[in-house]
Amino acid sequence: MSSNLLNKEITYVKGIGPLKAKILFDELGVETVGDLLFIYPFRYVDKTQYTLIKDINTKETVQVKGVLVDKEIIRGQKQKRIKATLKDSSGFLELVWFKGVQWLDEKLVLNKEFIVFGKATRYNGTLTISHPEIKGANDNPQAALSLEPVYGSTEKLKKTGFDGKLRNRILKDLISKMKSHHINENLPAYLTEKLKLVSKYKAVCWIHFPPNEEALAAARKRLKFEEVFYFQMRILYSKELRKYKYKGEVFEKVGNYFNRYYKEKIPFELTGAQKRVIKEIRKDFASGVQMNRLLQGDVGSGKTMVALLSMLIAKDNGYQSVLMAPTEILAQQHYKSISEGLQGLGIKTAFLSGSVKGKTRAGVLQFLKSGDIDILIGTHAVLEDPVVFDNLGLAIIDEQHRFGVMQRSRLWKKGSGKPPHVLVMTATPIPRTLAMTVYGDLEVSTIDELPPGRKDIITVHKTESNRPQVLEFMHEQIKLGRQIYVVYPLIDESAKLDLANLQQGYDRLLQFFPMPEYKISVVHGRMKPADKDMEMQRFAEGTTQIMVATTVIEVGVNVPNATVMVIENTERFGLSQLHQLRGRVGRGGEQSYCILMSSFKLSDNAKSRIGIMVNTNDGFKIAEEDLKLRGPGDIEGTRQSGVQEFRIFDLAEDHNHLSTGRQIATIILGKDPLLENPHNEIIKRYLHHLNQGFKDWGRIG
Ligand code: ADP
Ligand code: MG
Repeated sequence: MSSNLLNKEITYVKGIGPLKAKILFDELGVETVGDLLFIYPFRYVDKTQYTLIKDINTKETVQVKGVLVDKEIIRGQKQKRIKATLKDSSGFLELVWFKGVQWLDEKLVLNKEFIVFGKATRYNGTLTISHPEIKGANDNPQAALSLEPVYGSTEKLKKTGFDGKLRNRILKDLISKMKSHHINENLPAYLTEKLKLVSKYKAVCWIHFPPNEEALAAARKRLKFEEVFYFQMRILYSKELRKYKYKGEVFEKVGNYFNRYYKEKIPFELTGAQKRVIKEIRKDFASGVQMNRLLQGDVGSGKTMVALLSMLIAKDNGYQSVLMAPTEILAQQHYKSISEGLQGLGIKTAFLSGSVKGKTRAGVLQFLKSGDIDILIGTHAVLEDPVVFDNLGLAIIDEQHRFGVMQRSRLWKKGSGKPPHVLVMTATPIPRTLAMTVYGDLEVSTIDELPPGRKDIITVHKTESNRPQVLEFMHEQIKLGRQIYVVYPLIDESAKLDLANLQQGYDRLLQFFPMPEYKISVVHGRMKPADKDMEMQRFAEGTTQIMVATTVIEVGVNVPNATVMVIENTERFGLSQLHQLRGRVGRGGEQSYCILMSSFKLSDNAKSRIGIMVNTNDGFKIAEEDLKLRGPGDIEGTRQSGVQEFRIFDLAEDHNHLSTGRQIATIILGKDPLLENPHNEIIKRYLHHLNQGFKDWGRIG
């Protein structure tokens, strides 16, 4: 056996030829022996106990030990079957097989002791297991009482004959041949000792074939810790390296622009959370290291105010800022409110989007380059090459999930010499523990407090039979001068059915809210952007009273006069999406409402989601619940952001442990930021392997 056993191609394994190898690669990405070994079971079948025949419950899979007292081959009209009777101290159990009769006939020796495994049925008073697994009680005494691994599989794998049985046999064989030097330890001894973790070698052996529950728990503990530790270590270490690579502009002071605006222009007291976040940002500004910070806070929590104050600090230190929003409407809203707010302070703002053309555009570009513009607000158009700054010091991105890491790095290059500080804002709250996963390399600031005096949005659940009552309520609100959103799901923008649904809803509303007294806007993803914007504008100005839309309105639109959000087919929306939609109302001083329409019959999951919406307005609570209900794979933003797939660590179940891994990694890096201490050599080496793409199993350690 060679020392790089784990690097051998999978065809090295007996029983795996080129055909199975190809399917293993296609289905599981398995190329080498190590690849197969490092896919762990997702559950175990408990074969640690025997059930007495008298205690057999027909609902459960059981393991029974007994003596074979009878057998008989029965020739039916179509096929043969073999029937046998097993006896233990408590009774008799019938066994029957329709396949492999010949082979079984040889195996089933009367008066010999056997162990069978399967689910029994009771038929005419006789207890029978059809096609039980069976083995001689003395075949492999050690394996007799065990937790048997079950691996994730696919139809294709099963079809080629790579079934659980074969897989177990291959792995058992592999592990029996494996020596401890085949799997090097990848945690330093001081950690495994302190945390009482078993060795990697032991853990891998036990995770596949645990001798008992305790061993399984120990293996799980070790492998989960290792995964989460390296996950965090990788992020933190690269952050540490970046600190050495990327110095940041130093904004050392808070000056007149900030102070005058703060004292003269803000008509309210900042919330405690806003103050705390501004402190965090100021600390970054002064640190000499480039800031990469995520600001998360529920809709309406006052993120824009924090952004503006940060830009004023940049100005106080002689730097330009840019604020980028995902849509033209949002960018314009920001531009309008910010430039109005700054009037009289001698700060020059400008707007740039695809729609800014000709002379205006040329002017903006010129004054940006000359340093005559202090704050640029726009869409992703600000990322284009002709946009050149004099000395960009701060870049703010609103609503992160529409922008990728690529775009962030394009912003970096807009700095003069050093990259600008970057602040990313999002209104999609993510549980704290997950935020560091989703936004890996970003520091996270959280506004977890709404400005005082906000009225909670009243949320109710209604079904079709309540429709007249809902329409009546809409009439009342419009009479009071308010506006209403009616939102339809459109998961796939090309789904014709969804569009027809929306059209139907619109037609029905036209009957109940006839022109010319009422005007209704429609917006959906299939419209041209310019038409969409125009409809949004008409609604924002109050020309139309009702906005029928798909989820395109989800992000950021601000119409304070809108007080009612009606969501159709609520059961088809995810929790965080519902919360985002609800956040479109409740932005003015008036009591706002969210009406969740659904069919009468609902799945348990849909019921839970709706229940949570009705019960709380707290975005973080909702995000936590969402995590529990759906698992993190589906949390918005996690997919694109490349949250790595864990082998054994379960984000939904174990996400609390993320912070343990982080704490330990932080302590280690605090003492040894570049991992230069010989004790940490092992960590550095393993990180290096992780960054190499993780394929060379033999050398990992
Ligand atoms: P976000 O961007 O987080 O959705 P905004 O910054 O747009 O929230 O703030 C929403 C509204 O609340 C704005 O009208 C803003 O002026 C107001 N606001 C912000 N901070 C406070 C505060 N501390 N007290 C009262 N109102 C505030
Ligand atoms: Mg906002």
